[in-house]
Amino acid sequence: MIESVQGIQSHPETAGARAYQLIEELYPICRSITGNGVRQTLSILSKRIPLQTHEVPTGTKVFDWTVPKEWNIQDAYVKNSRGDRVIDFRNNNLHIVNYSIPVRKKISLYELKKHLFTLPDHPDWIPYKTTYYKENWGFCLTHNQLSTLNEGEYEVVVDSTLEEGHLTYGELYVPGQLEEEILVSCHICHPSLCNDNLSGVSVATLLAEYLLSVDSNRYSYRFLFIPGTIGAITWLSLNLEAVARVCHGLVISGVGDSGGFTYKKSRRGETTIDRAVVQILQHSGRDYACVDFSPYGYDERQYCSPGFNLPVGRFSRTPFSEYPQYHSSADNLSFVKPGALGESFFLLREIMHLLENDGTFLNLNPHCEPQLGKRGLYNSIGDNELAMLWVLNLSDGSQSLLDIAERSGLSFAAIQSVAELLCKHSLLERVGD
Ligand code: ZN
Repeated sequence: MIESVQGIQSHPETAGARAYQLIEELYPICRSITGNGVRQTLSILSKRIPLQTHEVPTGTKVFDWTVPKEWNIQDAYVKNSRGDRVIDFRNNNLHIVNYSIPVRKKISLYELKKHLFTLPDHPDWIPYKTTYYKENWGFCLTHNQLSTLNEGEYEVVVDSTLEEGHLTYGELYVPGQLEEEILVSCHICHPSLCNDNLSGVSVATLLAEYLLSVDSNRYSYRFLFIPGTIGAITWLSLNLEAVARVCHGLVISGVGDSGGFTYKKSRRGETTIDRAVVQILQHSGRDYACVDFSPYGYDERQYCSPGFNLPVGRFSRTPFSEYPQYHSSADNLSFVKPGALGESFFLLREIMHLLENDGTFLNLNPHCEPQLGKRGLYNSIGDNELAMLWVLNLSDGSQSLLDIAERSGLSFAAIQSVAELLCKHSLLERVGD
């Protein structure tokens, strides 16, 4: 398994196809912030990576929140007076408002409509709605479907349970040489939605597979597959020792659409992870935008709350607020593309590569430029001559390779490769860790 990973991951197309296969497998599952859909999802991920599954009991206090009751659902439908299922959870799990309480009753169309949700602007799409923290029930349907419902009596059945149970999340720790950790977090609480939720899950899984296949990582890595908001709050609350070791982190979400990249900076704004992501995007040849932190979005809200203020940014493609398919049945298997997933994975791998290889060096021949020609370095470096001059000049022990890449305008890859070459020729040596 592990031997094959690097081969599979060596091209964006094959890596993207592998991520897409995982999305196809996970797509039909009805997930929520708790329940068997999350467990089933984690058990599928466990076939690829050695995930540890945690179960946190209902009622556990986590900062200002409480782990909620566990929700599970077997079936849900609305039948008309002829006995036809006019809204059927079995056709699409978005039809039920997520966390709907059990219901079994007959009501009029007028009463039923108080519990129905549609998207009039997109009459063929089913919206995605939740009612996690308020006990209620409802159905989502296409606007076209709604317009076919006639006056009359309807039988409503929600065969769900909302009981004491657990909040389930997955965690993978990949030890490295350093105790300092890089945190990678994605949410796993959405039902059949692909870009929001499954793209992050699948690309994070690929990244974990990759890091597990590397002989020796410098940093340790911690991957979290958690329900949004309550999962991040729960993990933070129960893992303060690990939190203290987080030195860089990314929330990965919405990485499967065909749009350009969007990086949302950490609350601190100029941390190494912020600079590393921007550096890689700048030299990626792709469209990208870098936006400042705001207290709205995914789990960066919790990681960047003032009591933690972790160096955690968010890596996405099109922001969730900017694609109309967001939180609807149109965020489906045709909205996400294998090529986009593969490209996202490759950039994330480059970001990790930068963090792994950044460091500070000392020029061992600092009095005027060393004579490169007599060492055969002019011929061997070609286009990298400029990179070499920058590295030699700025390597006074105070500036990292990332600092040099930023100041020179050259790519980190170019700066790093000449630093390695100069080390081989004893013109440079690494200082610090
Ligand atoms: Zn969402």
